[in-house]
Amino acid sequence: MDYNGFFASALDALRDERRYRIFADLERIAGRFPQAIWHSPQGKRDVVIWCSNDYLGMAQHPKVIGAMVETATRMGTGAGGTRNIAGTNHPLVELERELADLHGKEAALVFTSGYVSNQTGIPTIAKLLPNCLLLSDALNHNSMIEGVRQSGCEKLVWRHNDVGHLEELLKAADPKRPKVILFESLYSMDGDVAPVHAICDLAEKYGAMTYADEVHAVGMYGPRGGGICEREGAMHRVDVLEGTLAKAFGCLGGFITGSKEMVDAVRSYAPGFIFTTALPPAICAAATAAIKHLKTSQWERDRHQDRAARVKAVLNAAGLPVMPSTTHIVPLFVGDPDKVKAASDMLLAEHGIYIQPINYPTVPRGEERLRITPSPYHDDLLIDKLAEALVDVWDRLELPTRQQAMAAE
Ligand SMILES: *Cc1c(COP(=O)(O)O)cnc(C)c1O
Repeated sequence: MDYNGFFASALDALRDERRYRIFADLERIAGRFPQAIWHSPQGKRDVVIWCSNDYLGMAQHPKVIGAMVETATRMGTGAGGTRNIAGTNHPLVELERELADLHGKEAALVFTSGYVSNQTGIPTIAKLLPNCLLLSDALNHNSMIEGVRQSGCEKLVWRHNDVGHLEELLKAADPKRPKVILFESLYSMDGDVAPVHAICDLAEKYGAMTYADEVHAVGMYGPRGGGICEREGAMHRVDVLEGTLAKAFGCLGGFITGSKEMVDAVRSYAPGFIFTTALPPAICAAATAAIKHLKTSQWERDRHQDRAARVKAVLNAAGLPVMPSTTHIVPLFVGDPDKVKAASDMLLAEHGIYIQPINYPTVPRGEERLRITPSPYHDDLLIDKLAEALVDVWDRLELPTRQQAMAAE
């Protein structure tokens, strides 16, 4: 039996569809973000990163690095086991207190990633509710889809951000049946935001629980970085707020926050929590430092929004097809898997600009794009160079203009 033959043909299928992925070998330089070194086939080259989810540059913040190094020096590297077997390290307790406070909730529980939070949190909650019905937004992240699937519960998908459709589904369901509405507060491929209050109104009207993924909003929105729900004054209305420590907080890990009973039940029943080693204390301390800093510092959030607005304005003025986005995400429409890859390759090789292509299944086929994520550290000069490089690539590859993109969408 030619086992490797099966793997090779699976890879060929991806290549045929133009969605075989190649990762750039990068070396970020702390203190000089978004500058990095690219270990290219021809050797080391300086590049500027334009697609990082280290949205606020917190992964290089001196307080965050300091907390990580100090804690690792004092407590060592690994956690030494699952929390059930090896106990809980104190920095993890402090981190959970910090997170509960961030979202104004009774309790928080930390997982090894945001992905795991959804993948194990959602089915654990759903299975503890008798005959639970899950109502999931059509554009929810893969980690939520997997969580829903693993619950084995009946699922209904509502059209993206369409509360009219959500209400139809809620109205048709048995009023006595437990229900959970699952959505993201900020959708990171289009940069649009959920109608949080309208969803919570429906949840109250039809007796449903709400579960919001705030992964792309924590740290960045709300007066203390509590996310979109904080900005909208809706944190107390959402039952489960889930987030990551790996994007705006610049570290690693994920979490849920909510009532003490819900959090305790997930702690006690979730396999993806119970059977895996806890986060290292140094990472917990670093994440706590990032959260604490962003609770009081508004500079990063203001500068982040200012930079995103400037990138949108400059690219729009250059006639580039910036897709509508009400947040810090700047998607540029390409609409072709070959061309999006060619554009990304050309930007890196010829302009020293790194933007990963986004293609199926992350976005639907025909909606391939470049997803640009400005940070507080992308200055005016970098933005002007980005625009110049994009215009050059757009001309040479004959990519869609704004008018053509609008017609195609
Ligand atoms: C990135 C992402 C996650 C996963 O978070 P990690 O901490 O990176 O595992 C979950 N939900 C959404 C919407 C994401 O984009």
